[in-house]
Amino acid sequence: MIDFNIPPSVGTELEYMAKAIKNKKISGDGEFTKKCSQWMQERFQVNHAFLTTSCTHALEMGALLSQIQPGDEVILPSYTFVSTADAFVQRGAALVYVDIRPDTMNIDEKLIEDAITDKTKVIVPVHYAGVSCDMDTIMDIARRHHLLVVEDAAQGFCSTYKGKALGTIGDFGCFSFHETKNYSMGEGGAIVFNHDEYREKAEILREKGTNRSKFFRGQIDKYTWVDYGSSYLPSDLNAAYLWAQLEQERTIFNDRMASFDYYDKGLRSLADAGYLEQPYIPEDCTHNAHMYYIKLPTLEIRSELIAYLKAKDIQSVFHYIPLHSAPAGQRFGRFHGEDRYTTKESERLVRLPMYYQLTDEKKDIVIASIHDFFKK
Ligand SMILES: *Cc1c(COP(=O)(O)O)cnc(C)c1O
Repeated sequence: MIDFNIPPSVGTELEYMAKAIKNKKISGDGEFTKKCSQWMQERFQVNHAFLTTSCTHALEMGALLSQIQPGDEVILPSYTFVSTADAFVQRGAALVYVDIRPDTMNIDEKLIEDAITDKTKVIVPVHYAGVSCDMDTIMDIARRHHLLVVEDAAQGFCSTYKGKALGTIGDFGCFSFHETKNYSMGEGGAIVFNHDEYREKAEILREKGTNRSKFFRGQIDKYTWVDYGSSYLPSDLNAAYLWAQLEQERTIFNDRMASFDYYDKGLRSLADAGYLEQPYIPEDCTHNAHMYYIKLPTLEIRSELIAYLKAKDIQSVFHYIPLHSAPAGQRFGRFHGEDRYTTKESERLVRLPMYYQLTDEKKDIVIASIHDFFKK
């Protein structure tokens, strides 16, 4: 059996989780939460980083910090995970879907400006597969129209655009540490941003509407309920699991990158012969090998390939059903302009097994099976 995903584990996770227990601090904002957020601040050159209970919750914080009001419009791709939309819909926003580029599967930056109305408040670029959207163009549009940018960098941890870490280019950046992502804590995420004016508000939102963070820093001698909020801070046990992986961030990165290159090489002749398409990485981007996908000529061939691989005990998966074709996606939003690529490209895409320490032997089997599929 070749699994599609195995959650990453580098071997020191249990040791650090035991340390959290010994610290008598397993709730939020303990030693390991601090280590992880400091790591992000230094590594990504960003002023503020808060671990959260998921990327979904980081996006919810992004929507709250953006002060989304009912009726505000949010521009996003339809080709994304539901959380990108949910966080804003919860605040009463109307979704405006914009088509994707077929080469990167990211929002087509050239179509964004036409979708802006006087109700537009936020643009949410999603860095699909850890490959950056065209952020220069998106930031330029956002600044000219006084819009905020919330980056869904769930898949983009440790990827860059023109040397800048994804998640740090817009006003807010959101990461995921779900077990299917490159670096994990089971369920978890983070929100990062540079503007100091959001810091206190973010702390309060994350701590149930209290100023407990200020209290812990000794800035006040009693903490109290000061605003609305929720519980967005993860257990330090989970942060300990993540810390083990951040310490070995390059090991995981290099391992996944080697797997990506291995697939790319092994499947190139099929791409050259026109049987399939391989991922495209624009020049300004360094990616993180979050996934290896291929695109088949048609939906039918994709279904056949997935079934063929399944019969050989190889798990491959497709996603996403575009949001604008889901019941909630229709209720909460509208597609601006023509759906030239979103549906068509999403139906052709399949993701191959990809995880930390995926062996060459297994990749050889996957590659050989795809070659065999096209031979018959
Ligand atoms: C995984 C993912 C999310 C959600 O992350 P969670 O941590 O599971 O909440 C959001 N957006 C995208 C693009 C994702 O891939």
